[in-house]
Amino acid sequence: MSVALAERLGSLPAMDVAGRVERLRAALHDEAVDGLVVTCLTNVRYLTGFTGSAGVVVVTPDELVLVTDGRYTDQAADQLAAAGAPARLEITATEQRAVVTGALTGARRVGLEAEHVSWAAQRRYAEEWFPELELVATAGLVEKLRRAKDPGELARMEVAAAVADAALAELRPRLLDGPTEAELALELDATMRRLGATKPSFETIVASGPNGARPHARPSGRRLQRGDLVVLDFGAVVDGYCSDMTRTVALGEVGETADRMLEVVTAAQAAGVAAVRAGVAAAAVDAACREVVAASGWGDAFSHGTGHGVGLDIHEAPRVGATSDATLAVGDVVTVEPGVYLPAHGGVRVEDTVVVTPEGCRPLTHSTKDPAP
Ligand code: ZN
Ligand code: ZN
Repeated sequence: MSVALAERLGSLPAMDVAGRVERLRAALHDEAVDGLVVTCLTNVRYLTGFTGSAGVVVVTPDELVLVTDGRYTDQAADQLAAAGAPARLEITATEQRAVVTGALTGARRVGLEAEHVSWAAQRRYAEEWFPELELVATAGLVEKLRRAKDPGELARMEVAAAVADAALAELRPRLLDGPTEAELALELDATMRRLGATKPSFETIVASGPNGARPHARPSGRRLQRGDLVVLDFGAVVDGYCSDMTRTVALGEVGETADRMLEVVTAAQAAGVAAVRAGVAAAAVDAACREVVAASGWGDAFSHGTGHGVGLDIHEAPRVGATSDATLAVGDVVTVEPGVYLPAHGGVRVEDTVVVTPEGCRPLTHSTKDPAP
């Protein structure tokens, strides 16, 4: 591992976890609810630092309670302390109901996370757990807070992006050895882990030749060969935070059309990045990319949205697409990833992850966009 990366991994700055619950309380006040039952595990982690596979958080105007079970007694206590989360820990041996309802004593209107509660769970809450309460379907309350990354979160995402950058730099020469897509994907994953990633942030995409024409192709047994365009879309997780990047590599002479695809998509991606700024509609960033692709005559071959927010989840708010109603704000971290996919020639996609600033944006991903391997 490079010394610089190791140092950055070993000295990640603290995140403002305690401040998050205060911002959430303000949102609960706006929603006119006396409490929120947080069941989405990513949101549980965001509010408390707890990373276990089972846990519920109850937020009220004066309490933050993490409820989990005996498998996590020590881990939960350690993680709450490390995060500086102002939470009370409750360990339950069997069912959480008594503790959760106890934490909501005095509440009348309580929010559930509608996007994360199954139909069965909603019925259980309404009929068995809280028959006396008015349950309110809330949407995206914690997710909205998660959009604005604090300096500690940005530091993690920058290191995650640096890990992916370093892994690609290390493996570029390998592209000419004729590995299969699956072999190369495995090597990318292993290299990212060796460089300090906890894991890949999603299933790595290596799509060569005709397979590249499918935007979300899975790595196959096809061998990379001269004349291929190769789409590499991958990212690393560092302390829970994801990175996301796509580069398209041209193996030798790829032909006039493929060269033109590379030019068009690279120009579209640069136009999209140039459009990113606080106060701009996410849809305008999509339009900036789409305009360049459409001018080439390949508008129909750009068959997906331009990007998405990134953070604890690989896909989170805000969405960057033609129908997105989001307005970009300082601290948003979004991808800009236009592509052109032609069955006869393969695919080209170029993706950077950027953080929104008042004047524009700052890329977190830095790998060269030169298509030569
Ligand atoms: Zn990606
Ligand atoms: Zn992406």
